[in-house]
Amino acid sequence: MDDVLGLLCVHAHPDDEAIATGGVLARYAAEGLRTAVVTCTGGERGEIYNMDVDATRPRLAEVRREELAASLRMLDAGEPRFLGYVDSGMMGTEGNDDPASFWRADFHEAVRRMVAVIREFRPAVLVTYDAFGGYGHPDHIQNHRVCVVAAEACAVAALYPDAGPAWRIPKVYFSTIRKSAIVQASRDLVARGLPSPFGEDFASADDVPMGSADDEIGAEVDVRAHLRTKMAALRAHVSQLDSDSFFLNMPEDLEVRAFGQEAFVRARSDVPVTGVEDDLFAGLRKPPR
Ligand SMILES: [Zn+2]
Repeated sequence: MDDVLGLLCVHAHPDDEAIATGGVLARYAAEGLRTAVVTCTGGERGEIYNMDVDATRPRLAEVRREELAASLRMLDAGEPRFLGYVDSGMMGTEGNDDPASFWRADFHEAVRRMVAVIREFRPAVLVTYDAFGGYGHPDHIQNHRVCVVAAEACAVAALYPDAGPAWRIPKVYFSTIRKSAIVQASRDLVARGLPSPFGEDFASADDVPMGSADDEIGAEVDVRAHLRTKMAALRAHVSQLDSDSFFLNMPEDLEVRAFGQEAFVRARSDVPVTGVEDDLFAGLRKPPR
């Protein structure tokens, strides 16, 4: 099985896997590669849509686990794997102080758990978030911190020896969005008379408070052939679907433009790479015999 290259995407909450990496998960599974998702928290503190809020809140973790399982089935990414922490809520909210939250987690215990998952799955490619966690959510920032340490620690047999045999990950990426793509999507929406979730007045990509500059992009994968699967996986997260969300109301051509490519910052590669790769596994695939 280790002959088959594996993609491990680490996410903070149920639904992040579909939004940020649904395309690459669907594409590489369709190519016959191994794919899996680790979700650090249960998403227990998010907004609840499309169901009775009071009745759902006490069993929200269970609801979101089922939705995640449905999303992963569509993406052909196996069963949910949780790191076992509670959603910390948005930055500055009371959830940040919950001792069970990911934000309050004992750092080395969180790294140990991540190392155990990595050593068990043995990925060729690991995907986490950038240092800002994409958009500043505490669980996304913590995901980055834990993953960058775990991605190195997993290769050192003397570290976390109870977490399985050492495994070196050849390539590590940070999931991101081009700042220029955010400006374009925002302008496209406004031009059609639709509300832009990003604000309507970015003078340039430099004004976008999230994402990455074009010259920081290390890989961009075309996922247009798998866009229907990605959007279906996103829609499996029924309790998180705000019917007003721009995600669900984009004209098809804009949807393809906004979500048809998935961008990554290359954090590390053990194989020589240059420029913007169009394949996260570039340099790792065996030449055809
Ligand atoms: Zn999230």
